[in-house]
Amino acid sequence: MKIALIAHDKKKNEIIRLAIKYKDTLSAHELYATGTTGTLIMGETGLSIYRMKSGPLGGDQQIGAMLANGELDLIIFLRDPLTAQPHEPDVSALLRLGDVQKIPLATNVGSATIMLEALKNGTFFMNAEE
Ligand code: PGA
Repeated sequence: MKIALIAHDKKKNEIIRLAIKYKDTLSAHELYATGTTGTLIMGETGLSIYRMKSGPLGGDQQIGAMLANGELDLIIFLRDPLTAQPHEPDVSALLRLGDVQKIPLATNVGSATIMLEALKNGTFFMNAEE
């Protein structure tokens, strides 16, 4: 599966903890991330990740383009709902495309954990139409 990992600055620690906890599970998949998130996760876990540009510099749009092309299967995007983001339009566009494509998309650590547990246990089903 192709999995995208993104976290706003105040959520970087949370996504790193998730990546450490689910490293073995994630390592079996093709991972993508926005620039800073990817660099931090790679540094902390040793996971191999394709890095896009940093989110505010277009990375969210690059992930969005993958979504539009049907190239992603799961997105974990830990958003910071309490801080204004200069690239808010890009964030909204990415979330919207996730819904257009009906791709599982976790925006907080609670839902991300459920998805990663399902992936780990082999109970993650991708086809929303089934
Ligand atoms: P970053 O981008 O991983 O480069 O910090 C995340 C974002 O703000 O969308």
